[in-house]
Amino acid sequence: MFVYLNGQVVPEEEARVSVWDHGFLYGDGVFEGIRIDDGRIFRLREHVERLYRSAHMLRIRIPLTIEEMEDAIGETARANGMRDGYLRPIVTRGIGALGIEATKDMTDTTVAVIPQARRKFDDRVRFEVGLKAKVLSVRRTPPESLDPRIKCCNYLNHILGKLEQWDSGADSGIMLDIHGRVSEGTAENVFCVRNGVLMTPPPDNTLDGITRQTVLSLAPSVGVEANERALTVYDLYTADEVFASGTLTELVPLTTIDGRQIGTGRPGPVTLRFLEALRQVMRDEAVPVFAEADASW
Ligand code: PMP
Repeated sequence: MFVYLNGQVVPEEEARVSVWDHGFLYGDGVFEGIRIDDGRIFRLREHVERLYRSAHMLRIRIPLTIEEMEDAIGETARANGMRDGYLRPIVTRGIGALGIEATKDMTDTTVAVIPQARRKFDDRVRFEVGLKAKVLSVRRTPPESLDPRIKCCNYLNHILGKLEQWDSGADSGIMLDIHGRVSEGTAENVFCVRNGVLMTPPPDNTLDGITRQTVLSLAPSVGVEANERALTVYDLYTADEVFASGTLTELVPLTTIDGRQIGTGRPGPVTLRFLEALRQVMRDEAVPVFAEADASW
């Protein structure tokens, strides 16, 4: 594999980052998770803009324009001939002395784009079975401590949640905020449907997922009313349908939560209509990053 690192695409063996990098020392960095399908990337600009907003909040200066970052992402895909996969742009505050005192003077950021093959998700799960979810006891870091819209290199809160989910034997975890309202999955947003109305928590206690935004924007064409509103476990347990959304996940039905059957216990019709609409818009609006695709564009 070839990795983009600080302006160059190099073989992965040569993509080395210093132990003094503050991303390594303190998780002081930001990242994105981007998928490429058939040589095309959906909502690339939105992902890159979210990366820049995350960096801006942490006062990490990215030494590339947004267009140059998009090129670096495309270049990484092309260097690997990777038409289907996952691309991880990551920017850290860079190399500095030990101690967060050093943060003050650090300007030499580390910029990488890491490619990875994407695990194929079993569509039978999506269409016929759904996943077993668990409401986790680990609460999401509150926005007063760290704004959830910052997609930063500190995922410990979500990793603790994931560990708890695995211990319980569930396929998926749902995190609450410190007030007991539904926040999000460990790497997905959460939606529920009741009486034909789609609901999801507002982005003040959850990462404002790009798939989440797309799902909300598709609601009129799917013919469903959509609301962003605070949800509790009650709303999940009593919903007709619950699903999770994310760039890698797309949409996946959560048909059991804490051992309780949700709705019919099978992937629901509204979820499947949104999944179909999402896949359609991904096909229609993804931007080609390979030259031959450019020609046909
Ligand atoms: N929440 C968290 C914590 C995530 O890591 C992700 C994945 N980026 C999501 C939600 C879903 O966001 P998106 O649709 O932008 O992938």
